[in-house]
Amino acid sequence: MSIISDISGGFPLQNGVTLPYLGLGVYLSENGGEVEQAIAWALEAGYRNIDTASFYGNESGVGQAVRESALPREAIFVTSKVWNADQGYASTLDAFERSMEELGLEVLDLYLVHWPVRGKFRDTWRAMEELYKKGRVRAIGVSNFLKHHLEALEETSRIRPMVNQMEFHPYLVQQELLEYCQACQIQYQAWSPLMQGRIKDQPELLEMAGHYGKTPAQLVLRWDLQKGVATIPKSSRQSRILENADLFDFEISPADMQRIDALDRGHRFGPDPDTFDF
Ligand code: NAD
Repeated sequence: MSIISDISGGFPLQNGVTLPYLGLGVYLSENGGEVEQAIAWALEAGYRNIDTASFYGNESGVGQAVRESALPREAIFVTSKVWNADQGYASTLDAFERSMEELGLEVLDLYLVHWPVRGKFRDTWRAMEELYKKGRVRAIGVSNFLKHHLEALEETSRIRPMVNQMEFHPYLVQQELLEYCQACQIQYQAWSPLMQGRIKDQPELLEMAGHYGKTPAQLVLRWDLQKGVATIPKSSRQSRILENADLFDFEISPADMQRIDALDRGHRFGPDPDTFDF
């Protein structure tokens, strides 16, 4: 049995903080009742990581749900991100304070640079380093950074990103980038791990999942973890929140891991980090 057998576990970051294996994504979860209910169900099911961003417009609901939970604050890992329009040194520091006010929290667990905005992301990163050194965030990282973005950052940074949150699913593996991050101790985390819901109609995944008595979503989320990738599937429905957490009682064989890898077709459902224009 693999060591990934406990929903409360996670991957160690380069500074010793643990990034939970599984988190709840809340992009497009409506602020207020919807996101608060989803988080309450997720925490009840054993999730200990919530992934939001200032761009999602639901930080206040996320903070409310975290504060209302019976769990101690330290038991819940909260991630937010600095949006593109706020990038740059001083504006990132301001954006962080606004996020913390919305969240109503003292310390954030992980703050990410949402996209590598050209001409700005190095200054943004200096602000992230500052927030980390002041103890306002337990870990800092990036999102949507390809190898050349990481290399450009390396030239001027003092702290290496601890996490890179990337689009990652069977149609977009980017194995070289994953291995580069692993060699640099940059923990990979998957966004749109369920291909934004399309996972359930993929015939090979349906067939393979059946052999394990699991659903395609469960198979693919487990594949993430066995590849060393933390994952943050989104749902606001209790049945799916529960389904997406039921990953810790089976192991995908090496042959099936390779079969899933082989579905890769370099296909993005989201924007390309080299050509995004927002
Ligand atoms: P996802 O791949 O997690 O898919 C979510 C959708 O899949 C749901 O809306 C639902 O329709 C469906 N679904 C959920 N559970 C299912 C199940 N068990 N079976 C079948 N269908 C199911 O897509 P996402 O929301 O784009 O990504 C997850 C999270 O990643 C987001 O909520 C957000 O927190 C984060 N994210 C980050 C970035 C970034 O740039 N850093 C970009 C996109 C998303």
